[in-house]
Order: sequence, then structure tokens, then C-alpha cells
Amino acid sequence: MAEHESLEFGKADFVLLDNVSLEEFMANLKLRFEKGRIYTYIGEVVVSVNPYRAMNIYGRDTIEQYKGRELYERPPHLFAIADAAYKAMKRRNKDTCIVISGESGAGKTEASKYIMQYIAAITNPSQRAEVERVKNMLLKSNCVLEAFGNAKTNRNDNSSRFGKYMDINFDFKGDPIGGHINNYLLEKSRVIFQQEGERSFHSFYQVSEGLTAGADIKKLFLFCQPFQTPDKSYQTCVYESSVRSSINDSADLKAVTDAMKVIGFTTEEIQTVYKILATILHLGNLKFGSDGDVTLIENSKLVSILGDLLSTKDENVEKALLYRTVATGRDVIDKQHTHQEASYGRDALAKAIYERLFCWIVGRINDIIEVKNYDVRVHGKNTVIGVLDIYGFEIFQNNSFEQFCINYCNEKLQQLFIQLVLKQEQEEYQREGIPWKHIDYFNNQIIVDLVEQQHKGIFAVLDEACMNVGKVTDEMFLQALNGKLAKHAHYTSRKLSPTDKNLEFDRDFRIRHYAGDVAYSVVGFIDKNKDTLFQDFKRLLYNSSNPVLKAMWPEGKLSITEVTKRPLTAATLFKNSMISLVENLASKEPYYVRCIKPNEVKSPLLFEHERCKHQVEYLGLLENVRVRRAGFANRQIYPRFLQRYKMISEFTWPNHDLPSDKEAVKRLLQGCGFEHDVAYGKTKVFIRTPRTIFSLEEQRAEM
Ligand code: ATP
Ligand code: MG
Repeated sequence: MAEHESLEFGKADFVLLDNVSLEEFMANLKLRFEKGRIYTYIGEVVVSVNPYRAMNIYGRDTIEQYKGRELYERPPHLFAIADAAYKAMKRRNKDTCIVISGESGAGKTEASKYIMQYIAAITNPSQRAEVERVKNMLLKSNCVLEAFGNAKTNRNDNSSRFGKYMDINFDFKGDPIGGHINNYLLEKSRVIFQQEGERSFHSFYQVSEGLTAGADIKKLFLFCQPFQTPDKSYQTCVYESSVRSSINDSADLKAVTDAMKVIGFTTEEIQTVYKILATILHLGNLKFGSDGDVTLIENSKLVSILGDLLSTKDENVEKALLYRTVATGRDVIDKQHTHQEASYGRDALAKAIYERLFCWIVGRINDIIEVKNYDVRVHGKNTVIGVLDIYGFEIFQNNSFEQFCINYCNEKLQQLFIQLVLKQEQEEYQREGIPWKHIDYFNNQIIVDLVEQQHKGIFAVLDEACMNVGKVTDEMFLQALNGKLAKHAHYTSRKLSPTDKNLEFDRDFRIRHYAGDVAYSVVGFIDKNKDTLFQDFKRLLYNSSNPVLKAMWPEGKLSITEVTKRPLTAATLFKNSMISLVENLASKEPYYVRCIKPNEVKSPLLFEHERCKHQVEYLGLLENVRVRRAGFANRQIYPRFLQRYKMISEFTWPNHDLPSDKEAVKRLLQGCGFEHDVAYGKTKVFIRTPRTIFSLEEQRAEM
């Protein structure tokens, strides 16, 4: 517990509150926010409130203050939790992870970057070149991934539109030797459509700015004259970008291009990346018309620009946009698209090539940062710290399939927190026979089940609708949901009152999430879940003479008669990826950062009481304090405890003659005067405050 701070700043650990009530919790949180103390502990959990202003608390001098210190020695900080995760990994050879959660705009991505900067700063004292290289790559990768995976939304100017889990691998000395990034479902629909006031991914504005500003990148486009910045492309608010004070696209373009070069992307690769962005911008301008039954491309000049950009023949581009190859029995025929199919195909192509580009970028970064030349037999075990920064819970005016997935993901993470912090902790006390008064909390497993349960959950109903041959509409999917789930306590498709404007009858369903009610429009669910991309496009891209582009589309190699397997749906892929993410996190020792967004207007001054209270409630922070306060910071099975500390006591060194290890531990702790701070379970000793452990460690070191 951090005690050295003056009380004028409130309590540095919520566990120290005089009374654990929502009022006191909120008063402390507000006081600290107003005094510029944005971090507060609940034991080892950091609660962070977004300051919405630059804070002078992340510099080299601050890093030095936290390096190697124990949590309670310094004011609460992300650096302390990063150090704790690092120390646990190093001391105990354990994989750890830092899970950062909170709603959109609460400060997760910023926190993840500070944590990585801290780890980079405190490692590699001997300045080994290879380790410095790895650290540099890990830090630079953030800049690239944000350019391609983040966008301005109505909630956050730099909102993560993908989930990111990054493992950092360490050698036996505790120095980073590599890493791996897992990315989760990119919100690719943003490529073709943005809600009012929002933007597409930053990368598009960067490339447009670069073109108009005549920067280096202009050279990249000489091959595709007459290239002009698209006017009515998918990027609906390109010109607005330059007036956004918080975003400087042309400076960012330079930073991203430099970062890509440093990471090791070749010139050819970088050129291809920009060509793909340009392709998408041009696709946004592509219009279809009809002549009788025949579908045509209106602005055919674009076809040759696309041919250039994709390094393929113009006629191939035209054909892929207007026809699809279908196998009927033994015959293979070209079937002309209707106007509607052609538009669908164009948009699907734009989304798919962007998503593929993004995954390819992540893959390239992984190739470069993966651990190389590490032989466990020579170098000892390689351990990991994982950092999770994923899109936060969000409610928009219009919520669709993407918000549904994002919010489901947040339910899963909340469930993990409940499992690890609230449930297991209490179950263990019961199992060990430690006197314990159960602390109640809302368990969101019921909502997780509503979404992911086999056969009955929303994803299952959606998949079933998508499996049906024949045309299943979004409305039919909604009816199926209503049929199966009408009685579920967290599901409804009815208006709450006749004046309920948040839900449109016959189009929306509403879920009572742990973090609030959200009405989802079913429009587009079926298409987004099927996520069909005509094979012809895959073949088009695979047959490109640009080797970088070709490599992104290996499945284009298959001919029409070879493609038989139905691909997994977007929902199933996402569900599976979330389940394995949670399994992975649960296998590591977790550290938590719980981020709170103080207001909706990005103000550094405003602490909106109701908004903050709502977040404190749904994050389960009060319950966290209660469990923590009544509980124990540390526990160890008796033999392990003895093994580590037996040298402290004459009764246990070198061996004890007491009837059991439990008795021996009791004797040892009595001798040290820690009797009041411990409890003895069936197989484990429980230690209430971390200070006791530190004191034992000190005594051990003095021996
Ligand atoms: P999303 O779920 O939308 O990705 P997020 O939780 O990742 O949201 P961030 O992008 O980290 O949110 O933060 C939003 C903005 O808040 C930042 O761009 C920055 O302006 C501000 N901010 C967040 N944390 C800090 C901080 N520690 N210091 C200063 N400003 C911050
Ligand atoms: Mg983010």
C-alpha cells in the first residue's frame, strides 16, 4: 500500500478508505483526479482516469524512481505495475500479462505504450545491440499498427479498431529478445462507410495528405498518372482531416514511413502498401451503370489506374469487377453481376484488401521481431510478458455487427477479471478453510452465454441463418433470435416504452450488457458474418505481377473447381479467437489496469460524476476493494514457503522437527512477529499485506 503520499491527494489505495462505500470511492477518485493524481491502486490493480492533458510523469527521471522498487514504495503509477509484472516474471520465472480494460477513449492504448516504454527503458543495462534492436522494433511497431488500425470515432480521435495482444519475450537475464503480436478482428467496414463525424483509418488520410503535400510519397505514384486525390471515395471526410487539431496526418505519414523502414519493410513493400491504399480510394470512386441487362463500369478510366496499381491487366480488373466464375456441374461459366452484385463485390474487395493488408503488416512485423537463435538448453527458459490493448466497450448512435463483436469481447474480459479477481479468490479461501464472508458481485457469465453458447447463443443463431441455402434476410435472423431468446433476461427486441427512441422495432435487438444497454441494428449482420469475397478477386490479386501483393493472396491459386470448403463465418472466427485469448491470459499471472473515462468532451477539467460512477460500478471496482480488503495479498503452499524462508529461523534451519510443515511455518512466522498478519489454510499460508513478504525477503537477503 502506498502510504508516503500526503493525504491532501486522497488515499493512494482504495483499500485504505475508511468505509468502503460508493460515495467514498467516488469522492476519493474525484479528489485525486482534480489534484492531478490519475492513478490509484486497489491492491495490485491500477485504476487510471484519463487526464486528457499531457502529464509530466512519464519521463526518464520518473522511470528511475520506479525501477526495481516495490509497489508500495512510490505513488501509484503504471510503471509500478509494469515493474511488478517484470519482477514476478524474472524472480519466479513466470509468464505474466497486463490486461488493460475500460471503455472507448478511457486511455488503454496510451497506457499500453507507457508500459512498453517503461519495460524498454529498464532492460538491457549492458546495451547489447541485438536487444536494443528488438526493443526499437517493438516500440516502432505501435506507430505502424496505429496508422493502419486506428481511426477517429465520435468517442475517441485515435480509437483502436482492432484488438492487440503483444507478447514480449525475455531471456534468462530479463532482456527482451523478441515478441509476437496477435491481432483481433479489424473493423474493416470502416473502409467503405463511416458514421457522421468519424473518419476511416488514419492511413488513408496520411497517404492523401502525402500526395497533396508533395512529400516523398508522391514519387510512389508517378506510375499511376493521372492520379488525383479522390473526391468522392470511401473517405468521406478527407478534407476535414487537416482541421483536426489532434491529428497531423502529414507528420504522421512521415513517422509511419520511417518506422516501416526501421522495422525492415523493403521499399517495394512500402510502395505496395501505398498502392493498396490508393487502390481502395479509387475503388470508392468506381460507379456501375447498366445498359439494358448489361452491367457496366461508368468511369472506365479508373479500371486502367487499378490495373496499374495492382500490376495486372486492365481487362482482368474489369472482368473481376463485372463477372464471377461459377461451376455448374462440369461446366465453368462466367456469370455477369447485377448492378447490385457488382457494387457489393467492389465494397467487399475494398474491405478485404485492407484487412489482408493489415494482417500482412502484422505478419511482417512478427517475422522481424520473432525470437531468433534462442536455444533453451543454452540460454535457459524464455519467459513472456503479454500486454493486452483491445477496443473498449462502445455504444454509438448506430450499432452493428462490429459493435456487437467488440462488446462481446469486453464481456469476455470482464468475465476473466471476475474469474481471477473475484471468484477464484473467494473460492480459494473457502477451500482452504479460511473464515470468509462471501462478497456478492454481478457475474456477467449469463451475457457471455447469451452471445456464445452453442446452438442457443446469438452467434449460433446467426451462423444457422447464414448456413441456409436461399435468401435469408437480416429480418429473418431477427425473428429467429426473438423466437429463441425472447425470454432471456438480458435480451429484448421490444421498445422499453412507446417513446423509446433507442430501439427501432423490427430492426433492432437490445442487449443488457454489463456496461450498459445497447441496441444493435441487424442490418448487415448476415452479409458481415458470411463475409463473402468472390473467388475471382482472389485469383485477380494472386495473379498480380507484384510479388508482394501476390503473396498476400495465396488462396487465389485454387481454381474454381478446387474451392469447395465453406469458410468459417466471421462470428465463429472471432468467438474462437476470443476463447483462445482468454485461455492464454488465464495461463499467465495477470496484472490489471482499469481505465476510466472522466467525461465525453475530452476535457482535462471535467469529472462527470454520473459517468464515472457508472464505470466504477460496472467494472466491479467496489467489489474488488471489498475482496481485496478482506483478503490476502500473498499465498504459498507450506513446503514452498519453507524452502524460501527456512534460513530465517533457528527452528526451521536447516530442517525442522515439527509434526508438519504447517506447524513449522507457524513457528517461523511467530518468531518474526507476523502472527497478526497471516492465516493458515489447509495447504497454504495466507499473508495479508505485501509488507510482510518484503520484510521476509529482506531478512532472507541478510542471511
Ligand atoms: P479505444 O477503445 O477507442 O481504443 P482507448 O482506451 O485506447 O480507446 P486512448 O486512445 O488510449 O483510449 O486514449 C484516448 C485519448 O485520451 C488519447 O488520444 C489521449 O489524447 C488521451 N489520453 C489517454 N491517456 C492519457 C494519458 N495518460 N495522458 C494524457 N492523455 C491521455
Ligand atoms: Mg485504444
